[in-house]
Amino acid sequence: MLLDIPKEALSTHAVTDYANVGPSEVTCRNSPTGHTSVPQPAKSNPMSIWRAIMKKPRTAVRSCHQKQASGHEGREKQVLSSSQVKPSTPDGLARRQKEVVLRDPVSPYHLFRDTAEVTVFRENLLSWYDREKRDLPWRRRAEGEVDPDRRAYAVWVSEVMLQQTQVATVIDYYTRWMQKWPTLQDLASASLEEVNQLWAGLGYYSRGRRLQEGAQKVVEELGGHVPHTAETLQKLLPGVGRYTAGAIASIAFGQATGVVDGNVVRVLCRVRAIGADSGSTFVSQQLWSLAQQLVDPARPGDFNQAAMELGATVCTPQHPRCSQCPVQSMCRAHQRVEREQLVASQSLPGSPDVEECAPSTGQCQLCAPPTEPWDQTLGVANFPRKASRRPPREECSATCVLEQPRALGGARILLVQRPKSGLLAGLWEFPSVTAEPSGQCQREALLRELQSWAGPLPATHLQHLGQVAHTFSHIKLTYQVYGLALEGQIPVTITPPGARWLTREEFHTAAVSTAMKKVFRVYEGQRPGTCKGSKRSQVSAPSTQRKPSPGQQVLDSFFRPHHPTDVSSLNSMAQ
Ligand code: SF4
Repeated sequence: MLLDIPKEALSTHAVTDYANVGPSEVTCRNSPTGHTSVPQPAKSNPMSIWRAIMKKPRTAVRSCHQKQASGHEGREKQVLSSSQVKPSTPDGLARRQKEVVLRDPVSPYHLFRDTAEVTVFRENLLSWYDREKRDLPWRRRAEGEVDPDRRAYAVWVSEVMLQQTQVATVIDYYTRWMQKWPTLQDLASASLEEVNQLWAGLGYYSRGRRLQEGAQKVVEELGGHVPHTAETLQKLLPGVGRYTAGAIASIAFGQATGVVDGNVVRVLCRVRAIGADSGSTFVSQQLWSLAQQLVDPARPGDFNQAAMELGATVCTPQHPRCSQCPVQSMCRAHQRVEREQLVASQSLPGSPDVEECAPSTGQCQLCAPPTEPWDQTLGVANFPRKASRRPPREECSATCVLEQPRALGGARILLVQRPKSGLLAGLWEFPSVTAEPSGQCQREALLRELQSWAGPLPATHLQHLGQVAHTFSHIKLTYQVYGLALEGQIPVTITPPGARWLTREEFHTAAVSTAMKKVFRVYEGQRPGTCKGSKRSQVSAPSTQRKPSPGQQVLDSFFRPHHPTDVSSLNSMAQ
């Protein structure tokens, strides 16, 4: 008797239950010989079948594969996954299924055993969510909104804001956003300047712009109706990727589609002991398949939010609270920790009774590689494995706060607008130039830039005051901060296009980045003739700006004013 292993049995997509089959052999589909046999383990279950494949029979499987490959040159280089298989003929289907089996060896250890296990997982997670979920403004708004487009808009805004940003930070921004633009139509008619202004300080500024472009598209091209499925949301709306599309479709429209964000990655990697690089394409595909398998068709939106909530509040990166976890009984990472502790306390070899994969063989693509063994001190935080990230590129910019202390109506500072595309697109900043870390060229280039906006300036008044560093997602940008106060000068009244002279109060509510606010703090604290705590410094920021939100504090932590030892030398070059 032969057992044909469908590709699903060795990928994550299907719930497998082979306990009731009793074959004596396992074969490759479409083998040139008809059946390349693999001895069947005595006890038929997913783990034993997989172990049989991964041990001695692997040679036989390779043999099968080699024969097949001989007739399909070049196909060897094509790495396929289950989601990529698009055969055009039954023969092609079988052949590709076999290739997937060979290239995607995923042990059932990383899968959910059967529908019963999936059902228990859903029930435990949703019961916990119903008891413990946080009261968040976007949840309140979505739950109470009967109009589907308004509900989708409420979810859409929150999901975009929450990307790369903590909940505590988003709450205030979300509340102000929805007060200002309660509907898609309101947002569609806003100006980009207004959007940037409200988004200021939230970071990743293209998100706000893309959100507004999406609203305009819905209003102008889609009759005011948000697409209902994840596929059409991703296809039609700018800035809406796979995650956001799935979140909107499941939460607002009840589509049974799973989602994977950073929290879900962590939960799934721990629950299924996935130690391979979670940033790899292969692991990512497996995680999306797992999420799709798990999502509850009766409550997809709640299930997805519950999985994310679990990662955010219980299964946290550093200090997971396993004792309070609703899915602890199904968590392989937790089982592994208990096993390791037992082995360590009894000085015993590994327990044969505890199910495990074959992490030391290096053959399972979802296990950590043998070069990265279990770290006892990390516990469940051995999962997920962090991919090594390239350090951000280092760049330097020279920027200057140009002030007219005696301008009509009070002191004013010069802001210029950034280009409409690229980093910080459309935001306002102090005149800046890309610069080498030091030297005369930096000052001269900056002075030319200033004069291009404000006309002739007294070069000797240009003072180097310090520096701040800000790390964007891929760039570490160090700003050399200069100041130039036009004391005793005839006020500059000409304002070229793309420039504005703002009061301090206007500056603090303008569409400027957090980086520019830190630059301004250096100017306020360091410029000659001022000192921290002076009356002028105390009134420089409105009260709402003086106490940053927790999230703002996190962003601000990127900044550490430094005062290089060569400040005096930088300044002396101008004398
Ligand atoms: S038992 Fe611990 S590691 Fe496993 S999912 Fe729960 S919190 Fe995370």
